[in-house]
Amino acid sequence: MTQHYTSELALFINGSWRSGEGRETLAVLNPVHGGAIADLPVATPADLEEALAAAGEGFRAWRAVDVDTRAGILRKAASLMRERAETIAVLLTIEQGKPKAEALGEVMGAASFFDFYAEEAKRAYGRVLVRPTGQRAMVLKQPVGPVAVFTPWNFPAYMLAKKLAPALAAGCSVIAKPAEECPASTSAMIRCLADAGVPANVLQMVYGVPDMISRTLIASPVIRKISFTGSTAVGKHLMRLAAEDVKRITMELGGHAPVLVFDDVDLDKTLDMLVAQKFRNAGQVCVAPTRFYVQERIYAAFLEGFAARAGALKVGDGLEAGVQMGPLANPRRPAALASLIGDATAQGGRLLAGGQAYGEGFFFQPTLLADVPDTAAIMNTEPFGPVAVTRPFATLEEAIAGANRVPFGLAAFAFTNDLRTANLAGDALEAGMVGINSFAISVADAPFGGVKQSGFGSEGGSEGLDSYMVTKAIHQA
Ligand code: NAD
Repeated sequence: MTQHYTSELALFINGSWRSGEGRETLAVLNPVHGGAIADLPVATPADLEEALAAAGEGFRAWRAVDVDTRAGILRKAASLMRERAETIAVLLTIEQGKPKAEALGEVMGAASFFDFYAEEAKRAYGRVLVRPTGQRAMVLKQPVGPVAVFTPWNFPAYMLAKKLAPALAAGCSVIAKPAEECPASTSAMIRCLADAGVPANVLQMVYGVPDMISRTLIASPVIRKISFTGSTAVGKHLMRLAAEDVKRITMELGGHAPVLVFDDVDLDKTLDMLVAQKFRNAGQVCVAPTRFYVQERIYAAFLEGFAARAGALKVGDGLEAGVQMGPLANPRRPAALASLIGDATAQGGRLLAGGQAYGEGFFFQPTLLADVPDTAAIMNTEPFGPVAVTRPFATLEEAIAGANRVPFGLAAFAFTNDLRTANLAGDALEAGMVGINSFAISVADAPFGGVKQSGFGSEGGSEGLDSYMVTKAIHQA
């Protein structure tokens, strides 16, 4: 397969694409072979100043654009994303590694956010309070202002859409800093928005040294809100920066999703679903099923069925037909996984499938660990890779206690055919999203966000629009 880009990479500031002109560059790697495939220009302090000035002006103009016009532009952007989905998906696979079918699904999912928020923007209602004296109070929703959004490399198109669609719908201007690992797919998404008619100064995209960019943007008085998706460690750092000037923040941070599998399920059907979800995007998913708590009676059969399915997955170059799992996205992941697996087996965990990095790129075998003790690092640190860890349980209470013992709470899942068990698990699992016999928990029309150290604030649904608005009460005699 050919693994190269056809387009030059650039920053997008005040309506123009910027590269060269003495800017330093970062190498973009192809995860299949690990080699450099493109040079990404790094934003200079002057670039950021210009982006900030444009975002300030862009906000003043965009907030005044009527909502039907804004909605029309977002709908047009969604349709351009669908028209160009095949091309964007190929770029995404080349730079990120996921199978092309997954990349295509990601772009389509991204487009759905623009369609949803084109409609939701029309429902940013306020209310009027009428006093017996004739005095009135008007409660208004207004766009918060220019926002800085930071998105990760695991779903470069989808994560960008989850932030840009509600922000633009609300009337905010945006400076986006997508992950440096996957710039071609995110640039292609930005191009759809620009071609759809988002005015030049409303949307800027910069890449560079993440710490320099986030410090500059968060400290600027122009920026009124920060939205970040990524690790809890970086999230805490950005929260400290935002606290300095009391800036609003939405934090979508790491998870460590538990899956409770009760012994009343159809095991074959459930295993097919669990294995497909575990190894989707090579496990680099914040809501990926990770800690599998399996009821004792079916534990042995579960391990056997899971290991067989994991071992049979076709792993390879995501552009090749039939490949079910690609390489990991960057060289940090195989190294981190090897260390977590080594620690788990040293503490008594049994390795039942995979366990090894291989190939010249960033490939890692689909891996299953059984009987991993709670003291193992992998039971407490998000593996963010193709590794499933399992533990048997006897009772619902024991399973819930295991599931809730980590300080994260993004997603949790339960598989059962018993209604009472489903209700009890749904109520007791400490997570922002619970999937009962389902993994369909990230959609445009429902809120998505964590509890505990998985963050706060919602993306998706009416809550997602609300997070880019401020509430004002005007009292009038
Ligand atoms: P990392 O913690 O260095 O980076 C995480 C993300 O934050 C990246 O997209 C990175 O570009 C960005 N980032 C890093 N420093 C930043 C800064 N100072 N300002 C702004 N953005 C910054 O680690 P990583 O190796 O890229 O990923 C490691 C872990 O991050 C994973 O194991 C996983 O737990 C988590 N992660 C979570 C998500 C998610 O969807 N919630 C996505 C990607 C990574």
